[in-house]
Amino acid sequence: MSDTFDPPSFARDIEDAARAGGWTIRHLSPTTTSVRPWLLRSASAGPGAPRLYLSSGIHGDEISGPLALLEMLRQPDFFAAFDATIFPMLNPDGLAKNVRENADGIDLNRDYRNSKSAEILGHIEALQTLDRFDASMMLHEDFEGIGAYLFELNDELSPTLGKEIIAAMGRHVPIDTRPEIDTFPAHDGVLSRKDIVALRGPIEERPDWPEAIYLSLRHTKVAYTTETPKPFPLAQRVAAQIAAVRTLMGALQIKVRRS
Ligand SMILES: [Zn+2]
Repeated sequence: MSDTFDPPSFARDIEDAARAGGWTIRHLSPTTTSVRPWLLRSASAGPGAPRLYLSSGIHGDEISGPLALLEMLRQPDFFAAFDATIFPMLNPDGLAKNVRENADGIDLNRDYRNSKSAEILGHIEALQTLDRFDASMMLHEDFEGIGAYLFELNDELSPTLGKEIIAAMGRHVPIDTRPEIDTFPAHDGVLSRKDIVALRGPIEERPDWPEAIYLSLRHTKVAYTTETPKPFPLAQRVAAQIAAVRTLMGALQIKVRRS
């Protein structure tokens, strides 16, 4: 698996996969580097399916998420039981240059409140046309990570789901078991809402909302942010992201069967 990432070829590849799978392909506002695909598909089983939101590529130096989504889209049945909405490449300019921020140096994942960047203004415009989701997952990487970890905003699904997702990722990359990660208290790789709020105060009062906070305030009770450790081989990080998404999807299907 190649570590180089070309946004226009990625857009072509994922749109080809989406077209073959019968997805509706829309676009967010483009950037100078590339179009920004927005992929939607209803469950083949019809109404009542769980509604899932996935996104990646908001930090341009984190490529395991976009590549994982491409692999998932290439498996025709991966999302068959779900109403899925996917934004696989929110920051093509950053990805083209292998930098975290966009071309203006803005960290797009801190721009969901009083947004300044065209990328996030365009994303929010699209989100405002969308309804609620049963769960969401944002796929990230940590450039100095020593293992997988995740941020968990989960007020609805199983309280052990974060641990289950980490365990699934841990079959492909190590788990970050440090008691503090990125300044947050952590429990075997899970950084939970309770600890985040204790440290930083109510999430809605933060001046610099990331995508997960915006989603959790407007669109869903379940927002996970995965982090794969960039020093490990790309194929393993991609597999860890896929395992994380699959575990979340499994929990959603259990919830639907019970209701
Ligand atoms: Zn990131």
